Amino acid sequence: SGRIGSMGELLVEFVCAEKDGRNLRASTYAGPFASGAPGIFIDQAARVGASTIFSGAVGDDAFGRVILDRFAAVGVSDALLKVAHGVPTGSAFVSYNSDGSRDFVFNIARSASARLPVGHAAVEALVSFGLDAFHISGSTLGDRKMATAALEICRALRSRGVAISFDPNVRKELLADPSYMDIVRALTDLAAFVLPSEEDAAVLFPGEAFEDFAPRLVAAGARCVVLKRGERGCIGMDAGGEVQSLGAHAVEVVDPTGAGDCFCATFVALSVAGNFPMREVLRRANAAGALAVGRLGPMEGNSSLSDIEAFLASRP
Ligand code: ADP
Repeated sequence: SGRIGSMGELLVEFVCAEKDGRNLRASTYAGPFASGAPGIFIDQAARVGASTIFSGAVGDDAFGRVILDRFAAVGVSDALLKVAHGVPTGSAFVSYNSDGSRDFVFNIARSASARLPVGHAAVEALVSFGLDAFHISGSTLGDRKMATAALEICRALRSRGVAISFDPNVRKELLADPSYMDIVRALTDLAAFVLPSEEDAAVLFPGEAFEDFAPRLVAAGARCVVLKRGERGCIGMDAGGEVQSLGAHAVEVVDPTGAGDCFCATFVALSVAGNFPMREVLRRANAAGALAVGRLGPMEGNSSLSDIEAFLASRP
């Protein structure tokens, strides 16, 4: 099986399950749950069998230990996990509205999250881990320091033969920032695995259908382009130009957080492991996305390969 790395924000999340109000209010919250999009990604990659490494930072506190314990439980290497002193682990409070939207209160700006190992030493540690692929979640690019570091690390890793995987997860509030969009576009061009959602594709490839932008990215060197279509499933194109389209599984949505990250992790981990053709990889990624939305908590709906196989076997 493959060797996969990622980097970026780590935080704990508290979730309000009651779906009845646009505003956070005094209520019962579940948590702390380990979170951060790249954290959800690496946990899922480990669960489906990849050897994993993550560059991230937490504070020297109980919330940080929730995250480190979770990574230890699934076998993520701690070589690039830093415990930063004098700053707390970040946190977020999430509530769900009856229309399916979410309200967040973030507490990460002055947290340990951005103090992750970067630069030459981090690149060397990642290279010596023997990475097959290194993943960036677009959410990480919202922090300017992490965005610059991410692009630098990806450029260095790519020149050392590591495939870059990119989930643009474009942040609408940053579209007007040209340096943000430059980094999003640079990572899209660099990536072997380009994994946009439909909202991302509308921003990055305006007016183009999958059949227009996917062949262009493949011709420019991408190994796989996959469009994540939420409750409409996914469509992928491989380096040979073959297109596969799959519908989503009908499931009850308890908590949409993490579906895209689980989808990407399953897709990249099984692709680099090389045991399945693209259609079979997409089937499993699609199932991981469906399983992710069915459980409350950012990575509580993550699934092992045997969970995924059992889910697929239970469906026609
Ligand atoms: P993102 O979280 O990046 O916006 P999507 O919402 O497109 O990504 O979800 C990623 C994948 O998870 C989808 O391609 C699909 O396979 C699965 N998925 C997401 N939402 C649902 C849903 N409501 N029902 C079933 N599967 C879903």
